[in-house]
Amino acid sequence: MPVSSAAPQTVPVLVPLGLPAPYDYLVPEGDHVEPGEFVVVPLGTVEYVAAVWRRAAGENAPKIPRKKLREILEIFDDVPKLPAVSMDFAEWVAHYSLSPLGMVLRMMMSASAAFQPPAPRYGVRLEGPPPERMTPARARVLETAQNGLIWVKSTLAQTAGVSPGVIDGLVDAGTLVAEPLPDWHAKQLDTSRERAKLTAAQSDAAQDLCVNTSDGFAVTLLDGITGSGKTEIYFEAIAKALEAGKQALVLMPEIALTGAFLTRCEERFGARPAEWHSGVTPSVRGRVWRAVAENKAKLVVGARSALFLPFPDLGLIVVDEEHDQAYKQQDRVAYQARDMAVVRGHLGNCPVVLSSATPSIESLVNADQGRYRHIQLKSRYKAAGLPALQAIDMRKSPPERGAWLSPVLIEAMAETLERDEQALLFLNRRGYAPVTLCRKCGFRFECPNCSAWLVEHRFRHRLECHHCGKFAPLPDECPECGAEESLVACGPGVERIAEEVAELFPEARRAILSSDVAPSITELRETLREIEDREVDIVIGTQLVAKGHHFPGLALVGVVDADLGLAQGDPRAAERTFQLLSQVTGRAGREAIKGRGLLQTYMPEHPVIASLVAGDRDTFYAQEIAAREEAGMPPFGRLAALLVTAGNRLAAESYAREVARTAPPADQIQILGPAEAPLSVIRGRYRYRLLVKATREADLQAYLRLWLSQVPKARGDIRLTVDIDPYSFL
Ligand code: ADP
Ligand code: ZN
Repeated sequence: MPVSSAAPQTVPVLVPLGLPAPYDYLVPEGDHVEPGEFVVVPLGTVEYVAAVWRRAAGENAPKIPRKKLREILEIFDDVPKLPAVSMDFAEWVAHYSLSPLGMVLRMMMSASAAFQPPAPRYGVRLEGPPPERMTPARARVLETAQNGLIWVKSTLAQTAGVSPGVIDGLVDAGTLVAEPLPDWHAKQLDTSRERAKLTAAQSDAAQDLCVNTSDGFAVTLLDGITGSGKTEIYFEAIAKALEAGKQALVLMPEIALTGAFLTRCEERFGARPAEWHSGVTPSVRGRVWRAVAENKAKLVVGARSALFLPFPDLGLIVVDEEHDQAYKQQDRVAYQARDMAVVRGHLGNCPVVLSSATPSIESLVNADQGRYRHIQLKSRYKAAGLPALQAIDMRKSPPERGAWLSPVLIEAMAETLERDEQALLFLNRRGYAPVTLCRKCGFRFECPNCSAWLVEHRFRHRLECHHCGKFAPLPDECPECGAEESLVACGPGVERIAEEVAELFPEARRAILSSDVAPSITELRETLREIEDREVDIVIGTQLVAKGHHFPGLALVGVVDADLGLAQGDPRAAERTFQLLSQVTGRAGREAIKGRGLLQTYMPEHPVIASLVAGDRDTFYAQEIAAREEAGMPPFGRLAALLVTAGNRLAAESYAREVARTAPPADQIQILGPAEAPLSVIRGRYRYRLLVKATREADLQAYLRLWLSQVPKARGDIRLTVDIDPYSFL
């Protein structure tokens, strides 16, 4: 049937803003657009890059008078389309998280450079005559560049081990000439390289895993103790996906982990995968985004947001350290990347591997109930045993006054150093001291914007708020009573432990690892490499060092305050502490060295501490699962958190009460609160919480939608946000 020229074509276009649905736009005459194409459209007085969406089956274009429709301004022919599966995924996530669809698209488009014409990039190639002046550094560059390939300048400098200036010098001399680089120039991944010979147990596990991942969507929990070789095993599944011509994605909870992993991938597959996380520069983000959408980037390693990249042909998703809470995104679109990886796998008919030495309760229950397949590895590679764990009862072996390390731990450290082995002290608290007070009048430094103490950071000579980032220099006298030299630091942070270690072991080479002390990803990776290469004797670190790293020389892990995480009253405090302490002590004794872990605690009889020391993971999990079931907590029930904030306490509180009053009655749903949040003020905004507790069978989203549609409109600066499956209760 000929298309009547009188009927203009309209298409739905989704603008990446807080909009629940696409708007209709006119297609310019003579043009044609398809779902997934990127276009520029006007909205109000602003122009946006947006995505052409699609209509549901059977849905017709709405009859809007032509005069009211606005026209698409530009169609990006050279930007790859958003794959249909990405649109499915966006809709699913928006529906589940109760977020505007446009905001999910915005996450998917968080690479603005991808929507601009790629700027030509230049590399260098060896072509001209050798330079007149030859130096050892120059000779190394010439040797490296001999293969005649076009090199990225920085890569050539790094590979040849010279400073970037040497490369520039050779360009000036005409020995190296500039050449345009192709838009995406990653080396081909090669799955046939020689690789580690797997042990019998590993090879069985790898075979099982490859069977599980060979036939579309299935979730496998790869559950193996630290150092059992889980990475080697899932490499086999990655190799298989790549051999089938598909793309593979590995998610990591912490970008500090990606460095060593990239190197390992390079050894295994002969090329570095594409990287995606907050440390990647905008122009690289743009290139990676395009290369993923064009199916040129075959292996991607990234933080949780990498899940939203536009993969057209994903054949495997691995979620490494799947239990890690860093997979939960709290702000804007709140989502749990591990759970969404399973959804993405389902929508794309692609297998998912969840890997951990200390699985989340959620995943373990799913495995127990047969929803996930379960592969277990119970021994370490090379028969290295798990570290022997011991509690130090701080009531019986207290530290000296003003110090934080027990004599038992100090002695163990001395023995370790004597044997030329490494020790790691773990304290999950940044800075020098969590509270500073005046000895004379009792004044404490509190953040003016938050209900939180200011944390002293001695390296930076200032007091900082860990919630809003406000900082101020530490004064010489008390701002309240004016007393001089009366200010004292209370409690320890990693910087203070480092100071104590320096006094105890002045000869030892020390490194502090904490997100604020290692300012850039490059420096962080450098410090991690130094530890790995045993250029450091004692590491003092926050959770940055707890996860995933492989430090061959590490023999002793001392946990400065094993009780710290247990003090938090949230439903996952025990689970999280068990996981974190297993992970951090699991760094010890990964190779030939016999590892040891010492936990400083005031409650050695606490079930978490007791099961850690007994090495009795199964009992811990069994108890924790039973307790969750009893209480109807996740995964046996479902939670959603509603947070009301406002610049005025009364406004926040009364609105929270109004919200609670409008909750529709429902059998399977219970509303708790409102209550003042434990962190009652952040950035000058007062906070009230409501917790919605539902059975597994209840349709929590439908209930919340109904509720929110009846909630009175928020006045003034009041905000109401919803967090499905919350992990933070502060
Ligand atoms: P996990 O991920 O379970 O903690 P990894 O895969 O990181 O364990 O393995 C721990 C260490 O043991 C790594 O350095 C890895 O290269 C090494 N390793 C594991 N299996 C083998 C093997 N079969 N042959 C050689 N090295 C291995
Ligand atoms: Zn603050």
